[in-house]
Amino acid sequence: MLEQFKKGLHKTREAFKGRLDNLFKGKEITPDFYEELEEVLISADVGVATSLKLIDQLREQIQEQKIKEGDAAREKLKTLLVELLQEGGGSELHFPEMPPCVYLILGVNGVGKTTTIAKMAYYYTQKNKKVLLAAGDTFRAAAIDQLSQWSIATGVDLIKHHPGGDPSAVIYDAVNAAVARKSDLLLCDTAGRLHTKSNLLDEIKKMNRTIGKVLPGAPHETLLVLDATTGHNGIAQARLFHEAIPLTGIVLTKLDGTARGGIVIAVKDMTGIPVKLVGTGEKKEDLQPFDPHAFAEALLS
Ligand code: GDP
Repeated sequence: MLEQFKKGLHKTREAFKGRLDNLFKGKEITPDFYEELEEVLISADVGVATSLKLIDQLREQIQEQKIKEGDAAREKLKTLLVELLQEGGGSELHFPEMPPCVYLILGVNGVGKTTTIAKMAYYYTQKNKKVLLAAGDTFRAAAIDQLSQWSIATGVDLIKHHPGGDPSAVIYDAVNAAVARKSDLLLCDTAGRLHTKSNLLDEIKKMNRTIGKVLPGAPHETLLVLDATTGHNGIAQARLFHEAIPLTGIVLTKLDGTARGGIVIAVKDMTGIPVKLVGTGEKKEDLQPFDPHAFAEALLS
């Protein structure tokens, strides 16, 4: 787990390792320490508000516990990071006692939504779960094609309609199929045209209601896929979607493609929505459950 996070955070670690070592390793805490730490956190995309909050907490603990060495301060910072990432709910994905489990997957075009669905299908198939996909983005023929290709590559079934059809009708059929076929997990794709369009959000709300009507209690997770390389733009996307439909988790993709992996911390702190999965590459196996301890360790050690 730690090794995978280190790999996913490769660019971030490269960018900050020297600066972090300079700050912490074998050093005494000087008055400049907090200012330098603030610069490092902000340049890793942790965000000003979140960085200042973390530094205030760290300063308080350092003073209270009379910590003098940088190495001990680094350990304190790790603990604070883990606390922040775990606040208000865990990172674990929810599975109901009785299958099928239904996840609704949201996100604007290009963030890596289709790839994430394919990776999730692969991940759960490896765990002997029977997975079904629903091609809920009926607006782009290419989206249905792309999901069809992934379904063949991962060996899972796909419920699809013709392009231009009603997305909720696909979802209706897919949930019924998941029940009839005794699937363990149904992953529902959705359209991702401009998130500012209120009709897109209305459609998503309708899909959400449809799922709940066919299977009370579902969807069991409503996950928003965000691209880590777009930085704080993702936070605005999360707020918009969250207002329309309560999100239960975030999947942060392309963590491998950014040197500013601190965005994970900002996303959690600014939205209150837990990060549950991270994408660390383009291959089907490049997805992993988010582990706050491994993340903090990989980022700061
Ligand atoms: P969608 O429009 O949101 O469905 O996006 P796609 O799934 O088509 O992905 C857009 C691009 O991002 C593709 O080139 C993917 O290979 C790439 N991509 C998705 N996830 C990751 C990731 O975790 N890391 C990297 N490096 N690329 C990714």
